[in-house]
Amino acid sequence: MYPFHWVPCEGSRHASLDARPAGGYPTGTEVTTLCGKRLPADNSELAWLWPTCPPCNREAHRLAAPALELQRRILNGLIRF
Ligand SMILES: [Zn+2]
Repeated sequence: MYPFHWVPCEGSRHASLDARPAGGYPTGTEVTTLCGKRLPADNSELAWLWPTCPPCNREAHRLAAPALELQRRILNGLIRF
């Protein structure tokens, strides 16, 4: 639904626009994060509990805004199919 994916790397939950394989980025996969780093993904369950990277969070909200606006218009009946 959104163009980005969340990916835990090095102690924070980052967001990335890299194409994501089904099941998530395998541990060790280098991803480009929205905060402008190249980091190895950590697909362990514990890694998902890491805090969200603030710059990635800001950028993710900016990218998600058009999708959320579309959803709002559909829910309000402003757009019909
Ligand atoms: Zn980040």
